[in-house]
Amino acid sequence: MISAFKYSLGIALACLGGVSIYAQESAMEKRQQMVEQQLAGRDITDRATLKAMAKVPREAFVPISQRPFAYEDRPLPIGDGQTISQPYMVAFMTQALRLKSSDRVLEIGTGSGYQAAVLSQIVDTVHTIEIIPSLGKRAERILKELNIENVQVRIGDGYFGWEEKAPFDAIIVTAGAESIPPVLVDQLAEDGVMVIPVGPHRGIRQLIRLTKKKGKIRTRSLMEVRFVPFVRN
Ligand code: SAH
Repeated sequence: MISAFKYSLGIALACLGGVSIYAQESAMEKRQQMVEQQLAGRDITDRATLKAMAKVPREAFVPISQRPFAYEDRPLPIGDGQTISQPYMVAFMTQALRLKSSDRVLEIGTGSGYQAAVLSQIVDTVHTIEIIPSLGKRAERILKELNIENVQVRIGDGYFGWEEKAPFDAIIVTAGAESIPPVLVDQLAEDGVMVIPVGPHRGIRQLIRLTKKKGKIRTRSLMEVRFVPFVRN
């Protein structure tokens, strides 16, 4: 009796194990497909970006109800009226930063923590600021669970950047601003790059790449985008 029980328990556990291994494999497969079709199949060519996108489990950063859709070609709701960006947008903005592994990066708008996790695979240090405390704390917890240790999360208004940690080689703003916050330009290092969606709230914005060379600021529009608004406390 006991041995029969043990036997069936063993089978049940083996099945459970099988299910979880299967689930992991299929997430990996879906991620690989996402990279091939949505990213490399478009204009994402930067190898470090593609590698990072193939590694970070997007499903870990979305609410359980959204997990089945984690690898779809679109943004997803993450609570508090906010969204995790479409994978292509995460990759496009990452690629646009032209990162080197030694770069210090600042992200404004932690949201789910996914973009920060992608950046963490490419550079040594990522700092990220989120204005909604519950989102920032959840992102911090998920990053910790995934053993991602080179991301520092701060709760606050990203309009003022992160003075103590400046200057940054790259700044990525993942909320749509009406204009470029001057403090962020100040906190950008020489030869630094900033990527930021700029334009009127509720309208189409331009994704701007700003560069600083010998103190001179240049901006260029990369594409039209839609983003949740950059808010002020
Ligand atoms: N990068 C995120 C998606 C960001 S959505 C991800 O990978 O999931 C935009 C985020 O910017 C939201 O979480 C929003 O709360 C935050 N945000 C908006 N205004 C902000 C501000 N002034 N400072 C910091 N975060 C801000």
